[in-house]
Amino acid sequence: MTYEQLVDFLENKMSMSNVYQPLLITALVGAGGMATVRQLAQVFLSQDESQLLYYEKRVKEMPLAVLKRHKVVTSNGKLVSLNARNLTLEQSAHLRLICERRLQSFVQKRRIRIWDYRLLDDDPVSDSLRFRVLKAAGGRCQLCGITAKECPLDVDYIIPRSRGGKTELANLQALCSQCNRSKPSRDDTDFRSWPSPSSDPTCVFCQITILAKVIERNGSVFAIPDENPATPGHLLVIPARHTPDLFSMTERERLDADQLLRVLQARISAEDKYVAGFNVGSNCGDAAGQTVGHAHIHLIPRRRGDITDPRGGIRGALLEKRIYQRDIR
Ligand code: AMP
Ligand code: ZN
Repeated sequence: MTYEQLVDFLENKMSMSNVYQPLLITALVGAGGMATVRQLAQVFLSQDESQLLYYEKRVKEMPLAVLKRHKVVTSNGKLVSLNARNLTLEQSAHLRLICERRLQSFVQKRRIRIWDYRLLDDDPVSDSLRFRVLKAAGGRCQLCGITAKECPLDVDYIIPRSRGGKTELANLQALCSQCNRSKPSRDDTDFRSWPSPSSDPTCVFCQITILAKVIERNGSVFAIPDENPATPGHLLVIPARHTPDLFSMTERERLDADQLLRVLQARISAEDKYVAGFNVGSNCGDAAGQTVGHAHIHLIPRRRGDITDPRGGIRGALLEKRIYQRDIR
């Protein structure tokens, strides 16, 4: 390739989905035309803002805090200084040697386990396994439901490799890079059974943000607190799939919803001794008062005296018909 062809490639042909191609070429040009893969990886690392932020956090959290406590270092904002000052060349060399020796013996004892397992690639997920994981996830993050188009998806170990988690479909789930980054490394929740809402862009219960409100899930359905509770503890049980009302829910969804209602009913009763009854119901259709066109079942805890005369309950949907006269014949 000639210099002119390279310029043409860089200016006209290189399509970029990330920063790596120009970084690699810059590094090779800077190294006189040739470098080892390790050297190139080091260049990537030195430019990778997310890795730098990660290690800045690491520095602050762990060694810096401990070394400050032992009065070995002082830190002032972003500046860190060694408290032993004015070292001679010999003293500096000796200190480096001691550090190297302590490092060596530690690494020998613990082996590779001292580093973060997420960054090690000695047991990678093959392309075909990655494909199967993403396919099983329907191309969405299994925590927030975002699609691969909107945010890159990572293959995440449910039981981490550092705790013996295997590289197999049963232990892998798709998480978007944002959810994956915010997941604590000790968390081993299996998000695959969590329903992700399907997206009808105009529907409030289909928005990804609804997932932040989820308090419980069961198979194809989840529960959230009603944002305008009729009584304290008012919940909604909602199928993750967008469907207009109770009657269009599948049998699976109705069974999942029924189980979830029972679990929530028992939990509310156990947690609040004033709860003495429940209204359970679903408004189906505008004419019946439905305001959100995505199926949902209201679970409304009732306490004695919460209204003056509770008789008739959900018959109160037709206010004038709430109280009926018993036919005494
Ligand atoms: P319905 O009138 O039977 O369709 O009930 C809709 C219910 O959804 C109402 O009780 C609202 O308070 C509730 N609701 C609407 N939007 C939200 C939301 N974003 N989060 C929680 N509850 C909501
Ligand atoms: Zn919906």
